[in-house]
Amino acid sequence: MDVDVSKEYAKSLDDQDELAAFRKEFYVQPETIYMDGNSLGLLSKRAEKSLLDVLDSWKQLGIGGWMQGKYPWYYLSEELGEKSAPLVGAKSEEVIVSGSTTTNLHQLVATFYQPVGKRNKIVADELNFPSDIYALQSQLKLHGLDPEEHLLQVSSPDGRQILEGDIIEAMTEEVALVVLPTVLYRSGQLLDIQRLTEEAHKRGILIGFDGCHSVGAIPHRFHEWGVDFAYWCNYKYVNNGPGGVAALFVHEQHFGKNPGLAGWFGSDKHSQFDMSHTFQPAKDAGAYQIGTPHMLSTAPLIGSLELFQEATIERVRKKSLHATRYMMDLINEELWSFGFAIGNPDEDHRRGGHVCLEHPEAARICKSLKDYGVVPDFRAPNVIRLAPVALYNTYVEVWETVQLLKRIMDEQLYLKYENERDVIA
Ligand SMILES: *Cc1c(COP(=O)(O)O)cnc(C)c1O
Repeated sequence: MDVDVSKEYAKSLDDQDELAAFRKEFYVQPETIYMDGNSLGLLSKRAEKSLLDVLDSWKQLGIGGWMQGKYPWYYLSEELGEKSAPLVGAKSEEVIVSGSTTTNLHQLVATFYQPVGKRNKIVADELNFPSDIYALQSQLKLHGLDPEEHLLQVSSPDGRQILEGDIIEAMTEEVALVVLPTVLYRSGQLLDIQRLTEEAHKRGILIGFDGCHSVGAIPHRFHEWGVDFAYWCNYKYVNNGPGGVAALFVHEQHFGKNPGLAGWFGSDKHSQFDMSHTFQPAKDAGAYQIGTPHMLSTAPLIGSLELFQEATIERVRKKSLHATRYMMDLINEELWSFGFAIGNPDEDHRRGGHVCLEHPEAARICKSLKDYGVVPDFRAPNVIRLAPVALYNTYVEVWETVQLLKRIMDEQLYLKYENERDVIA
């Protein structure tokens, strides 16, 4: 393979990087290479500032902060939905910032899963994140249905990928709803969202996507593709902090549907404070909110989304693809003799923002990486996830990460750790 493995080459890539200036917007710790932005994005100075601004409104205005101050809280979830819309290719009113990934999934399934006669099954996949599966199982139980029978999990041929063909085959006349990840959290496979949406709709099936591992890394066109709904967290690639408030998308063709789980913050904003016992939902995605929004864990998103607006998701994706390609090239060149395998798809249009590096000793290789200053994450049983994030990682960091892996393997530094995961991996 023809790849320049010199550090000079990595430096030259940084010199040409048009997003390089964004790194100084973030709190990047000295002596640490952070490759875990796919699990928890780093704090930016602007996110910190917007959080402090919102705290200040509380300090200065008390309850007045709902309508006054720099970012009046009452309208903030809608305004940030509008600012999130370019990340997912949606109209402004189709996105609301609210809840968490899992609670949003509950809300959307409670709304869009309407079993009728024999059309009563949900299709998911066997590699999705556990929380999504738990939510689907419990939603089926609420309908008095048995998840063993009514939740169809499309199987993977290799433990890494799910084949679009297999998903389409599972879309029978017994299926009411399909729920899939955009990008699989372990292998980083990017599904063909447009094709799957078309195929579902041809068969009269609704389809929703979990965008946790793609939003903030990859452009989407949810509106144009006709995706029925989507939901995602903002604490991974969108950098709004641990447990930061999530978001959801509902296609405008579904506006006017009553949310399955109603609450007063889903009300039409003008009549909410009439305090009527007749729920009058907002006309757009705002209807899917439930209770009072979590302002302090929404606030960092104000600053975060500003950075995306300036960088644009297209440039973020371009750099991310280039940096992950460079990392894979270096891995193939420098680590081939140590028993590693790359578990993510190779083609650009089929992979997300992280490299999935597999090794039987992955748990303890991760521990040694951390001890020597590189933060990866581990997914049992054998996956090291490495995400060079476009807004704050450099090409030299990618190079150094691979050099450290080489040293850990060469000198067998990993042998001094147990090959088991920690409580949080
Ligand atoms: C991160 C992630 C979650 C986490 O759900 P929370 O409700 O935010 O805890 C769920 N699903 C997927 C696919 C994820 O990647």
